[in-house]
Amino acid sequence: MSRTKPRPVILGAGLAGLSAAYHLHGAYDIFESSGSVGGVARSVVRDGFTFDHAIHVLYTKDPYASRLITDLLGDNFAEHERISWIYSNGVHTRYPYQANMLGLPLATVRENLLGLIESRYGATAGPIRNFEDWIHAMFGAGIAKNFMLPFNRKVWATEPCSMGFDWIADRVMLPDMDEIFSGAFRDSKIHHGPNAVFWYPEQGGTAALPQAFAERIRPVQFGMRAVSIDPCARLVQFENGETHLFETLISTLPLPTLIGLTEHVPARIRQLAAQLRANRVINVNLGIARPNISERHWVYYPEEEFEFHRVSFPGNFSASLVPSGMSSMMIEISESPTRHIERKGLVRRTIKQLCRAGVLAKQDQIVHESTTEIDPAYIIPGIDHDSIVGELQAYLRSLGILSCGRFGEWKYLNMDQAILSGKHAAEMAMGCRVPESSLNLAVVNNE
Ligand SMILES: Cc1cc2nc3c(=O)[nH]c(=O)nc-3n(C[C@H](O)[C@H](O)[C@H](O)COP(=O)(O)OP(=O)(O)OC[C@H]3O[C@@H](n4cnc5c(N)ncnc54)[C@H](O)[C@@H]3O)c2cc1C
Repeated sequence: MSRTKPRPVILGAGLAGLSAAYHLHGAYDIFESSGSVGGVARSVVRDGFTFDHAIHVLYTKDPYASRLITDLLGDNFAEHERISWIYSNGVHTRYPYQANMLGLPLATVRENLLGLIESRYGATAGPIRNFEDWIHAMFGAGIAKNFMLPFNRKVWATEPCSMGFDWIADRVMLPDMDEIFSGAFRDSKIHHGPNAVFWYPEQGGTAALPQAFAERIRPVQFGMRAVSIDPCARLVQFENGETHLFETLISTLPLPTLIGLTEHVPARIRQLAAQLRANRVINVNLGIARPNISERHWVYYPEEEFEFHRVSFPGNFSASLVPSGMSSMMIEISESPTRHIERKGLVRRTIKQLCRAGVLAKQDQIVHESTTEIDPAYIIPGIDHDSIVGELQAYLRSLGILSCGRFGEWKYLNMDQAILSGKHAAEMAMGCRVPESSLNLAVVNNE
């Protein structure tokens, strides 16, 4: 064992773990299973191209997060006005679909608008029970059929009717009728949504942010995969056999993984954790020997003939991400137990589909191809999501374990929110001492 006097231990050096370390006063230990900081917000350099793990753009409504991020990045970021489009019916329309239908076939526009009017002013359709009902109620049958349902099926790799809708908040844009009608008949340049303007590092890709954090905290201990947690002994054990005592444990591991590693967990808690679902995102990264392949940041693909749902162009986030005279693309494909993606031939299939969509030309020379995977990637909010997660969190807190970050909270958190989640966990850790009685209770429950 490393030492006798326990202090706070942080598991994971993604943005939430790094932020917890940054906000803790006094000594702590931070352990990371991989060999670098950043977690999902990391970037890799291959053949001179820098690829994030899928698109990562920075934006926040929170004044503290805004100050912290800009302070960490210093002058290493630029502000961008988002240029994002949708490709369907063989044409590009501006994002979001519901506010920009100009250019779609007239029959599609008509179907979309009639459905919208029906949903707003027609007979009420009954209670909203799931995400699919919500889409129908908000946008009507046309937009649901022509964009919202096929697109969301692909992103989540899940049927929207099996998903809750409490997570939506301002993530799905709800333009008013006037904006929708205007965007159906003329080119509307109204900026919608929280990431209409975003920040992106000038150098180093998204990884510049976690790296800036890492420079301001105690050294991260890499190659340290936690494999078991004994909450009674307050001991965490690592794959290499080392053990560390903790005073409070701040974990950024996926919530179901954390429950799986924790000893003496009651059967009910294990059963609840087993109900949590997430998907996985496969990124196909391409380097192309052609400059300025697109002037857009990214394009969405709702149609089933394309396996991917989003293609982005890193060179438009920062010229430093691509060698001179070249372009690159990141192509995102979601997978889940109900949507399997065949890995064999995936890059070839993707290239073919990109040619069909007109993004690549047959004569384009591909000078780099690779794949990366994010697992878990998107938490799939089930119908009872909040009550399950709430009970698991409360149980862990009773053991002196604070589970934070996107996967620790098991919540659709962006980078700024993961940072705030880590900060909150640090504040709880500094204020919290777990009463012995709750530890005993947890063990008794298990027996
Ligand atoms: C496809 C996709 C696109 C996204 N795009 C954006 C975007 O554009 N803008 C935005 O703001 N946010 C975006 N996000 C969200 C953002 O990536 C996350 O909110 C944030 O990076 C989560 O950080 P985290 O620290 O909570 O989790 P993670 O990044 O997952 O960090 C957890 C860390 O724990 C480590 N770990 C795991 N198991 C163990 C173990 N047993 N022992 C020790 N260490 C372990 C992992 O290696 C990892 O480093 C996106 C996410 C996805 C999936």
